Amino acid sequence: MKFNKAIYIYNGKKELLNVNEIEKRADFKRVTNNIFCPGKKCGAKLIFKKLRTGKYYLSKHPAYQHGEYCEFSGKTRLKRRNLKNYIEMNGNISSRGINRRKNEGLAVLDDFLHPEVKRNVKQAKIKTTTVLAKPDNSISEKPIIKVNYDPNAGLIKEQITNKNSKVKEPPFFWRLPAQITNKDSNKNLKTGVKIKRIIVNSTGNGCEIFGELQGVDILFKLPEAFFYGSSRQTSTDQLVKFLKILAVFVESTPTEIYLVTMCQAQVIDEKNIVLYILDPEFLAFLTKDEKKYSSLTKIAVAISSRMLK
Ligand SMILES: [Zn+2]
Repeated sequence: MKFNKAIYIYNGKKELLNVNEIEKRADFKRVTNNIFCPGKKCGAKLIFKKLRTGKYYLSKHPAYQHGEYCEFSGKTRLKRRNLKNYIEMNGNISSRGINRRKNEGLAVLDDFLHPEVKRNVKQAKIKTTTVLAKPDNSISEKPIIKVNYDPNAGLIKEQITNKNSKVKEPPFFWRLPAQITNKDSNKNLKTGVKIKRIIVNSTGNGCEIFGELQGVDILFKLPEAFFYGSSRQTSTDQLVKFLKILAVFVESTPTEIYLVTMCQAQVIDEKNIVLYILDPEFLAFLTKDEKKYSSLTKIAVAISSRMLK
């Protein structure tokens, strides 16, 4: 999809620019690093390109997805894959799957915060939510097990006996806070914010993380299931301790900490977005100077040992 116009966002100010205006700008470099899709509720990053003919054009950055409502998403041209061969089951997600999703999220947020750094964007490429329909005769015989995320269920891979089946773990859709809309209600999402404040319930069975990005506030709730539901590694006491360490750090130091997390939405009120984090493994962190921490444990240890100041 090519664009004639882009939204330039810098220091909280927005400006709608025509593609031909961009090249004439004195702050050309800064502009091309901070241009976004003009579509409704979108905010996907754009790339400014020069054709051999000397003409300029704008295209979507490969690491970004258009928002659900964006008129430039071009989704109508795509068809959903025939669902005949899918078997749906409830299940949890493998640690490998979680780590891959978190790393994708960290890479995209890092790129969003530091657009000036040239990166291999292929690594951060997010799969689109729809796939091109295959002709019917090419559909494989192997059944595909489509996993519906259920934090209380076990891993499907450990339950199935037919090793021929392909397990397709549930998608967690990447959304920048400004892209989250009512259409994301009841979906699994992946997003990133700057942490403003963390409140840990003193009895240790609840926590709230207040975050913000691009002027959009998000409240993340860590319900009891976060502390007790997970069979993986960290104990409840440790989780509470680590969250408290992070809460104090955010409160008392100017260092900016960003959260990248997988989460679940209930019914979304766009003016008051609340998302739920059900598993400690879903958390990852990033600092302004690009230090990445793939878990709550890692960032808590870094703070405690004063590696992170
Ligand atoms: Zn868009």
